[in-house]
Amino acid sequence: MAKIQAIRGMNDILPEQTPIWQFVEGKVRKVLAGYGYREIRMPIVEQTDLFKRSIGEVTDIVEKEMYTFEDRNGDSLTLRPEGTAGCVRAAEEHGLLFNQTQRLWYTGPMFRHERPQKGRYRQFHQIGVECFGMAGPDIDAELLILTARLWKELGLTAHTRLEINSIGTSAARKAYREALVEYLSGFREQLDEDSQRRLETNPLRILDSKNADTQAILGDAPKLDDYLDEESLAHFRRLRELLDAAGIQYTVNPRLVRGLDYYGKTVFEWITDSLGAQGTVCAGGRYDGLVEQLGGKPTVAVGFAMGLERLILLLETLDLVPEEANSDADVYVTAMGERAVAAAFAMSETLRSELPGAVIVTHCGGGSFKSQMKKADRSGARYAVILGENEIDSGTAGLKPLRSDEGQQELAQAELVSTLKPLLGA
Ligand code: ATP
Ligand code: MG
Repeated sequence: MAKIQAIRGMNDILPEQTPIWQFVEGKVRKVLAGYGYREIRMPIVEQTDLFKRSIGEVTDIVEKEMYTFEDRNGDSLTLRPEGTAGCVRAAEEHGLLFNQTQRLWYTGPMFRHERPQKGRYRQFHQIGVECFGMAGPDIDAELLILTARLWKELGLTAHTRLEINSIGTSAARKAYREALVEYLSGFREQLDEDSQRRLETNPLRILDSKNADTQAILGDAPKLDDYLDEESLAHFRRLRELLDAAGIQYTVNPRLVRGLDYYGKTVFEWITDSLGAQGTVCAGGRYDGLVEQLGGKPTVAVGFAMGLERLILLLETLDLVPEEANSDADVYVTAMGERAVAAAFAMSETLRSELPGAVIVTHCGGGSFKSQMKKADRSGARYAVILGENEIDSGTAGLKPLRSDEGQQELAQAELVSTLKPLLGA
């Protein structure tokens, strides 16, 4: 019978890879905690309408990428393609938005039926950050300052750049959309196929078309910032001042629009040039209208999401995965013979208590000295502790360095902890 395989575009993350995931997640957690952001955990499945009403009916995600199915009650459910909609739903449902500000974050898998390729998968992982109840550009700036700190922590500062733009209020965008459609209609036949379709459905998205001919046509198109309302312009000016004051470098990209309907005013992307076309590692913006649109009281909001696969790919591509991101053992405790097994467990427990943080692997499964030492080597441990019949009789243990040519020493069992402590830097 044919073996069942994973679904295309959905990846297993294997034990060799999980340490780097934990490393990145750990850094993000630490940075976010340092700014007072609190974690929220939402379900992976939501009602389909939640995404239709927030992301927008005529976006790529809703039109062609969602995993939507009927459950056994006949309700239409969808595997979340992003986290903002569910976060707003949860925050509103539990009264987190009433008369207060919130700084929230979440992490987990997202699902989009896209064409799988490097940096683009059907199940992928995001860390998302959402802030509610703060209207000014200060909180927009904070989000960018904290992401800049994260890049620094990960060693990515020189490999990421920030693009920002303002897409104004929905009234401003509406006026601009009309002008853009009128202009582009004159070039309909010369536009790429996607852009022709978007002319009817989502014309602003044409601005970030990757097609060179379309981009050339856009050169003389009406400019979005000529249509922006005074409030959006002032908001954007102040954001730029705050970023300048904080020493955050950025470029203003007047064609930066995002693919989700709920954004307005500030939008931004952190981009890397080291991953080819899938270069956006973090993207977000303001969505002041979304809470109300989903039935809540008007509540201003801003947030972003970063793609963990791309961040990890970037660290690997640049060879920036640090030493510490591994699951190697520190000490491997062998046990030759019946009596040694119980002693090895006792010894390992003592080591775990006395050397907190060290990874102690106790050999299980018997076998010869040679095969146990082979396993010790493969565990990545720096030291093997050798316990055989002789050692048990004499109350000693062998300590053998596995990563240097130094020889084995015989120690009293009581000396093992004090000997290992400085060697492991504990
Ligand atoms: P892109 O333009 O790359 O398709 P997007 O605009 O669809 O991105 P968002 O919905 O804003 O992206 O998601 C935020 C981040 O999540 C992206 O910048 C990216 O890092 C990551 N991401 C989005 N879709 C995928 C995917 N299919 N596979 C892996 N990561 C993804
Ligand atoms: Mg996309």
